[in-house]
This record gives sequence, C-alpha cells and structure tokens, in this order.
Amino acid sequence: MENNKKNIFDLTHEELKAALNEMKQQPFRAKQLCDWIYKKLIFDPEQMLNLSKNLRETVSNGFSWYLPEIEHVAHSKSDNSYKFLLKTNDGKLIESIFMTDKGRSTICVSCMIGCPLRCKFCATGSQIGFVRMLTPAEIAGQVLVTLRYMKEKGLAQRVSSIVFMGMGEPLINKEAVKKSIYLLTHPECFALSPSRISVSTAGFGPGIAAFIEKTGVRLAVSLHFPTNKLRSQYMPVNKKFPLEDLIAELKKVKLKKRDYILIEYLLLGGINDSIRHAQQLQKLISNLKVKVNLIPYNPTETFPAEASSEEVINNFARYLHKKGIFTSVRRSKGLDVDGGCGQFALKKQ
Ligand code: SAH
Repeated sequence: MENNKKNIFDLTHEELKAALNEMKQQPFRAKQLCDWIYKKLIFDPEQMLNLSKNLRETVSNGFSWYLPEIEHVAHSKSDNSYKFLLKTNDGKLIESIFMTDKGRSTICVSCMIGCPLRCKFCATGSQIGFVRMLTPAEIAGQVLVTLRYMKEKGLAQRVSSIVFMGMGEPLINKEAVKKSIYLLTHPECFALSPSRISVSTAGFGPGIAAFIEKTGVRLAVSLHFPTNKLRSQYMPVNKKFPLEDLIAELKKVKLKKRDYILIEYLLLGGINDSIRHAQQLQKLISNLKVKVNLIPYNPTETFPAEASSEEVINNFARYLHKKGIFTSVRRSKGLDVDGGCGQFALKKQ
C-alpha cells in the first residue's frame, strides 16, 4: 500500500504533527524530524540517530520518503553554475540550477515538468510541451537535494535565495507552489525568509496580487513585449490576460517598503528591442514600482530569432535609465551547459 502513504516531504509542520498523532507519537517528534530533514539535510530515517529504533521504524514504514534523485550534474566554468537533472519516481526529469557567486548561492527551481503556456521563444513550452505538475515535495526537494550535494562537495554551505524561474508557470501550479514556499520558509522547516524567494510569472491572470500577499515572496513578471499585438504573437497567455488586465493586477500588489516588482524583458533582435519599444515599455510601467531586468535571448532550436547586439541592449537600458527606471542586464547563467529554461532537460530527455 506504498502509494497510499503520505510523503513526509509534502507535509507542513502541522500536518506532520497530526500524522504523528495518528501513529500514536508525540507531537514534538515533528520538530526532531524536521530538524533532520531541513536543517541537517538527512533524508533517511535510519540515519536520524536521536530517534529510538522503534520510532525510526514507525516513521520509516508510516510515511513515503520520496524525493527526486540526482541523475546528472553539469558545471559551467564560465559562471560557476551547476545544472542539476533530478529524476522523479515516475522516471521524468526535473531541471534545477545552483548558482554561486561571491559566497552567495541562488537556486533556480522548476514547478512543472514542461509547461502548458507555449511561449514561442521558450524551450520548455514550445519543445517539451506540458508533462505534469510537480508536487510540493518535488519543488522544495530540488532545494534540499541540490544543497546537500553542494555541501557534500564543499561547493556551497547555504542558500541565499531561491527563484522560481525554471520550468513551468508557478501561478498554474499555485497550491503546490504555495506549499513548497511554506516548507522553504517555515521556521521549523527550511526557514528561509520569504523576501529571499522570487516567483516569476508569465502573467497568468488574476490572483497574482493575492498570491504575493499570502506568501510574502517577491514578484517577477515576464513582460517581454510592450504591446498586446506583439505579446499575443509570442506569448499566447496574453490573449487570455492582455496587458491592461496584467498591469491592473500588478497595481494591486502590495509591496513592502523597499520592495519592487521585477519586470523581465527578453530582448529579441529586431522584434522588441528598438527605442520605440523601450518608450512603449516605459509608458506601460510608469505607474508601477518596478525594476527592469533585460534578458538577452538564449537561442532555442525551434525559434529562429537572434539575441540583440550589445549596442542595442545598452541603448535600450540607457533609455530606461534616463527615464528614471532602475535597469539591469542579466548575465547568462549556465549558458555553456544549455542553461536556458528547459534546454538542459530537453537534451537529456
Ligand atoms: N513561467 C514563468 C517562469 C519560467 S521561465 C515565467 O514565464 O516567468 C523563466 C524566465 O526565462 C522567463 O522570464 C522566461 O520568459 C525566460 N525565458 C524563456 N525562454 C528563454 C530563452 N530562450 N532565453 C532567455 N530567457 C528565456
């Protein structure tokens, strides 16, 4: 009856206490178990040495202990990022990236296998299609499993931030993403501050503001195109949630004092990278508290566009700067190991 067992890595602290209660165990055991899992990164009950043999057996048999397993790791020398392919219990591949820079580490996690949104420039949606949603354990598990690997190899000691910018659209797998954020932020669990977690959305509908209010994480929006005509052409989600609705939703987002919405803008040569587009973008976001992150296009096989030249990127950034918008340019992470969204998994699938 293995399949009916609750996966211990899916449970909130409260759910774990309740499940232990049903097994006639003391609720404080939940704290001990969470300490082993989230603080010591030990995922095997047999190694949890301050638990009695009896209790180890009870929890070992009473729960499922499933986390995705490391299938492959690729290190990019140019930017010191580690790309992980994790294998699920149904034999699918999840992509996560661990980036280290000057003692800080950021993990980029996936929330789905594939993606249903089919943005034309994105390898995940356009080439893999949608396979399935990930569970909370599979999402938070990417952080646990990759951090343990990095620690064991002496490559990183802790996680400074987590970004939901891997495969999938977080707002479509909302409940599992929320629960994974709970697991990653709860003081008895992974205990990272929500202000160190960013969720990136393609702008999937109403509910963005409520999601941010509920979770307290930071928001990034893949805006990418400044007009409905262009955006609908490359991001089908825009036909359902056009720019005016998206901007209205973003106005509702309650931001903390020093916080802002990160506007992601992919620069595609000759498509959305002229000064006219920069003007349109500036107008569109003028009433929002934002920073803009310009993303040079990372070419995919099925979308024959080119990355904008350095000069075009700089001019675009300079225009926004002059208009008083803080603008940065993303340095490609893990590009030489196929680091674009979904590209690594695609090659291995
Ligand atoms: N679905 C979410 C998060 C996943 S993608 C979203 O759309 O925001 C994370 C970021 O990578 C998004 O901004 C996405 O548009 C961008 N991206 C996708 N394909 C890319 C490519 N080929 N080159 C550069 N960025 C890409």
